[in-house]
Amino acid sequence: MLLIDGSFGEGGGQILRTSLGLSLVTGTPFRIEKIRAGRKSPGILRQHLTAINAATKIGQSEVSGASLNSQQLTFIPKKVLTGDYSFAVGTAGSATLVLQTILPALLIADGATNLVLEGGTHNPSAPPFDFLEKTFLKQINRMGAKVTVELVRPGFYPAGGGQIKVHIEPTKKLKGFELTSRGEILTRRARALIASLPTEIADRELSFIGQRMSWDKSCLHKEIITNSRGPGNVVFIELECENLTEIFSAYGERGVRAEAVADEAVKEARHYLAANVPVGEYLADQLLIPFALAGEGAFTTFGLSLHTTTNIDVIKRFLEVNINTTQLGKLSTLIEVK
Ligand code: ATP
Repeated sequence: MLLIDGSFGEGGGQILRTSLGLSLVTGTPFRIEKIRAGRKSPGILRQHLTAINAATKIGQSEVSGASLNSQQLTFIPKKVLTGDYSFAVGTAGSATLVLQTILPALLIADGATNLVLEGGTHNPSAPPFDFLEKTFLKQINRMGAKVTVELVRPGFYPAGGGQIKVHIEPTKKLKGFELTSRGEILTRRARALIASLPTEIADRELSFIGQRMSWDKSCLHKEIITNSRGPGNVVFIELECENLTEIFSAYGERGVRAEAVADEAVKEARHYLAANVPVGEYLADQLLIPFALAGEGAFTTFGLSLHTTTNIDVIKRFLEVNINTTQLGKLSTLIEVK
């Protein structure tokens, strides 16, 4: 049985999710200790518990230690069973991170799967639904599998209650590819989503972005959400390029000015544009597992985040794969999988 140290490197929930995902794929049992030891509230949170439960069900697995706040877990998978599943986080914890855990196994499983996932769909520190759909899954769908998602209802912190439907058509073998340039920027778009809050917040965010990015009004879109369980506000800067779409997001918070929220997204977008790499920080750590499963492919991204290097180390514990990183410049690294 593989022993994983959950406090290693970045010491967060990613180590647990990557281990669960690759354990399902490879059938390798593992034990993880010191789960999220590096965090303020260590151990398993509801979002992670839902991911564990989802992996347990899909992998018909034996599990021990799967309870809230637990800092250790033993996971013994059997065969991945495709079909129809529903998993609910039960809080505003991220539903997209539950998908991140079980998706690798379902991409190369024997049959199609339909998932209904409930929880947060727009959370800081997790992929927002929009990133999942337009950034991450667009690249996954280039690898041979076909994944479609539908946002039935957005879920914001703290009310949660969002719902995502996912349909996964697997492939026998994922195909890697090269993503070393973004190509021309085809569309520049800022979107401000606003639910049960004054819509002026969204107007101010968009006007700030328009000014700072020198974008005209046709690039700015306000979307008033009427079906979420609670209030929420998120602003996206979306750059649709020839080879990928990158999305930068920031969340409205009580006591934080709309302009300051928009500025967070602007700073990220500018950093991305200045680095002139295709793959942003978040997509980089999310592409590692599918590329490692393909056993081939390459992409360029910023300097390596601790998240990415930690993820590489965990992947190498489960898969025999070479992942080489070469620093190309101050803001650019080539990641190659062989
Ligand atoms: P912890 O609370 O221990 O940090 P966690 O389970 O919340 O753990 P992280 O380990 O921080 O999660 O991992 C978060 C995941 O969400 C990563 O895959 C990261 O790429 C992704 N992510 C975070 N922020 C964004 C964002 N703004 N856009 C897209 N993806 C994001």
